[in-house]
Amino acid sequence: MVTTNKQLSAAEYIQLEEKHGAHIYHPLDVVISHGEGVWVYDVNGKKYLDCLSAYSALNQGHVHPRILEAMQQQARRITLTSRAFRNDQLPLLYKELSELTGYEMALPMNSGAEAVETAIKIARKWAYRVKGVPRYQAEIITVENNFHGRTISVISFSTEEKYKEDFGPFTPGFVTAPYGDIQAMEAAITPNTAAISVEPIQGEAGVIIPPQGYLRQLRELCDRHNILLIGDEIQSGLGRTGKLFAFDYEEVRPDLMIIGKALSGGFYPVSAVLGNTEILGLLTPGEHGSTFGGNPLGAAIARAALQVIIDENLIENAAMMGEYLQEHLAEINSPHISEVRGKGLLVGVELKPSAGGARRFCEALQTQGILVKETHQHVIRFAPPLIIDKETIDWAIPRIREVLSMP
Ligand SMILES: *Cc1c(COP(=O)(O)O)cnc(C)c1O
Repeated sequence: MVTTNKQLSAAEYIQLEEKHGAHIYHPLDVVISHGEGVWVYDVNGKKYLDCLSAYSALNQGHVHPRILEAMQQQARRITLTSRAFRNDQLPLLYKELSELTGYEMALPMNSGAEAVETAIKIARKWAYRVKGVPRYQAEIITVENNFHGRTISVISFSTEEKYKEDFGPFTPGFVTAPYGDIQAMEAAITPNTAAISVEPIQGEAGVIIPPQGYLRQLRELCDRHNILLIGDEIQSGLGRTGKLFAFDYEEVRPDLMIIGKALSGGFYPVSAVLGNTEILGLLTPGEHGSTFGGNPLGAAIARAALQVIIDENLIENAAMMGEYLQEHLAEINSPHISEVRGKGLLVGVELKPSAGGARRFCEALQTQGILVKETHQHVIRFAPPLIIDKETIDWAIPRIREVLSMP
């Protein structure tokens, strides 16, 4: 094998990727080589505003210097101990997560989907040991158009044909209710219902915001029927929507809160399930585990990533800049836009069916120096890093306007 450090052309990188990589994504043909803050640069040196933020994993911006410093320092000390031994970073992450979120305990994993799987396991155990559901009869209610990741159990409750086709048989024990409809949700409850799991805003589905009051009604429903509420805030959490959690808009606390993505500021996969002792404390040694989950490198990175969110007031900035961005997007007079909606810096621009799909607009925005990705066919999601400022939004708006005025 001959490896080369010679810089290839964008076309050569793309060709290599197409030839040797499984085609599970349909990326824009931009080959990024480095980034800083809200900006990324391609192999030709062209600069782009990143308005996807790796699906909100980059709330703190690219290569944040403080997170980088923490990563480098910890990488020189120790990276992995396994949970067979203790380390001196994870307990501090536990403490800081607890102080920040108010949950007593956390269970660290790596990818978001793993944390979702973990929450499902906990909810099932709770159903058998606490609620008294007959063994292996537990049901978890999920909602239409959910996105919780890509593992077999997680796609088992997806309603997206594309995510499931050809991948069955699926994991049983899941029931689907429409999103945003509290009556339908109540109708789906049985004595065996262990949990209801929702995203407070459905990011992947196209920034779908449920009716005002829905989250609170879910909480009441769960309390009334002795059901756990599981919140997936992997994308919407940690400041993205202008609150620490999107559930905070209705002052609702899920029993289990799932976080990931921005928990590491984009440096490393770190996810976690948060909950109180009465629930997370049900797990005992040997019942669950992960070789890399809770490793000191990830823990040190997550600690720095959380500290950046606090010290740089990223939650407040997301609220202010989100409002500013949404206001200016809403002012764009384009025949293609049917709706601009969002919370904080999780914003969706829904295009009319006549616009011919969002993809061509994303490609045109790329030419203008703005990176976004269509989510589902007709929605352009704008979710820049939370460190974005007015000046940068002012730079972006005329470019977005120009693209959305294309015929
Ligand atoms: C991204 C995402 C996941 C899955 O996270 P991975 O790290 O990709 O496994 C789960 N839930 C939501 C809401 C997400 O946005």
